Amino acid sequence: MTDNRLKTISSLDDIQKIRVTQVEGFHGCPARFKAAFLGEGNNNKSKAAEIGTALHLVIERYLCDQFELYTPEWEEYLVWLHKKGVPTKERQALLTYLQSLESMRQHVIAVEWEFPLSLVSGAPDIVGHIDATFCNEQGGITIRDHKSNRQFEGVSEWKKKFQPILYAIGVSEHYPGHAITFEIGYIILGEVVSWTISVEELAIYKQYLTRRYAEMWEEILVYRRTGEWPERPNDGCGFCPVKDSCATIRHAHQDFMWSLGNPSSGETITAKYIWAKGVQTAIDTTVNTLKQEIIALVEYQKSPIVEGDKQFSIKKPRRRKIDFTDLRSRLWEAVNKFFPADSRLDAWHSVEQAIQKTTSVRVGDMDDFVKEWPMFKGDVAAVTSMEESNDFSLDVSKVSPQ
Ligand code: SF4
Repeated sequence: MTDNRLKTISSLDDIQKIRVTQVEGFHGCPARFKAAFLGEGNNNKSKAAEIGTALHLVIERYLCDQFELYTPEWEEYLVWLHKKGVPTKERQALLTYLQSLESMRQHVIAVEWEFPLSLVSGAPDIVGHIDATFCNEQGGITIRDHKSNRQFEGVSEWKKKFQPILYAIGVSEHYPGHAITFEIGYIILGEVVSWTISVEELAIYKQYLTRRYAEMWEEILVYRRTGEWPERPNDGCGFCPVKDSCATIRHAHQDFMWSLGNPSSGETITAKYIWAKGVQTAIDTTVNTLKQEIIALVEYQKSPIVEGDKQFSIKKPRRRKIDFTDLRSRLWEAVNKFFPADSRLDAWHSVEQAIQKTTSVRVGDMDDFVKEWPMFKGDVAAVTSMEESNDFSLDVSKVSPQ
């Protein structure tokens, strides 16, 4: 797999190329763009990023026909993914994703393709890295970008980004005259977002992006000369490697903390605590009031509210209830059935200890008990009942935009 992680440089005078993702990043926040280039701040790879890399690698190998599903090689990949910390649910989602790609394998043009794009004379080349490209039935080319995150974005959001268009322009430089279909495959969410850009649209986009890139390069030259890289707070600040040293975020944080515990009037720390608790209560009350209003509205219109990619619906939570007295006698009978006479008492002793732990901790621990003692699964199911709560609760879930 190509290593497409950010390569850092020691000086901004050395910028030889700019990645497609960095073009996007620059428009989000120039200060973060600069920090990423120079490798500043905390650049530790997150667990989610490691899982994403592992999933990408298996997809790449599958598209290159290096293994088939349900074969010993596939089993080996599953074990490898498990060792890499990829949870069961993600591994199952990957299987479904690979199945959906099966028929596309015979149409692969390139996998993990890195291309340079020379848009503006005097500015560095833009470098794109495409997960996979295919010939499609309409005689065009499909670009597929695999995403392992859970943050769904629909066509309308993707159309605002530079990445798809730059990829499409990059591909059209090598295969001119073809319409380009851009697809985002959400591995975990099991969704595919797709839209097609015609040859005519591509020409217009290219003109537009050439202008934007020229402006961006001009801005970079100014920031590089002055050393002043603007900090622009955005949705990704939480993942920014230099957020701890970001003056804009620090001031915003200080302003917020000041509003919670106004430190200027010589108040004591206990007074500030009481004040902050009051603010917290006010926020909780507002959240609860809004929640109740949404529940009332959903009840009134008898259907969920869908806004963008979010759906607000109501549900009656169901709780599991286990009759432990009945469970004990059932398990005792089962131990007599499953274990020979000379090991029955030891077995019962262990089972008793396990239930004791369960009753004193929580009913959910019965799942661990059943995992450890699968032969008792039926007995546990027999004494488990579900009871509905009297309270409605609000369920906010992600949906594909209509
Ligand atoms: S924390 Fe946000 S505003 Fe500050 S540098 Fe990072 S991305 Fe920019």
